[in-house]
Amino acid sequence: MQKRFTMIDENFICDYCGKEVSKLNYTARDHCPYCLASKHVDIMPGDREESCHGKLIPIEMEKYKDTYKIVYKCDKCHTIKKNIMAKDDDLDELLKIINIDRWFYDTIFYYNRNYCSNDAIFNMCI
Ligand SMILES: [Zn+2]
Ligand SMILES: [Zn+2]
Repeated sequence: MQKRFTMIDENFICDYCGKEVSKLNYTARDHCPYCLASKHVDIMPGDREESCHGKLIPIEMEKYKDTYKIVYKCDKCHTIKKNIMAKDDDLDELLKIINIDRWFYDTIFYYNRNYCSNDAIFNMCI
């Protein structure tokens, strides 16, 4: 049976840092742009069908087309989830959480973004 797929894009108060997060308009917001945390509420992106409700904590990022996906691990059920970065995400905060130096991002990631064709996780294609 085909399930109807609805993206929900709405303003919300982040459960983890308490900041008010405005909606994105171009796609459903699935994580906080300030503390980068997310909540394990989706089975399919935006469906809010997951009953776990654990905290999704960024553990790494991976190249995705011309942007990145944030790789999350749920602190409750340990599921790995991936969300595409939003254009207003706090990159420095994300790098801090996943423990990547800014110079590393600026050099290796920039290189990978421009010269690598694959989308492999953190791939050192140099
Ligand atoms: Zn937050
Ligand atoms: Zn979970």
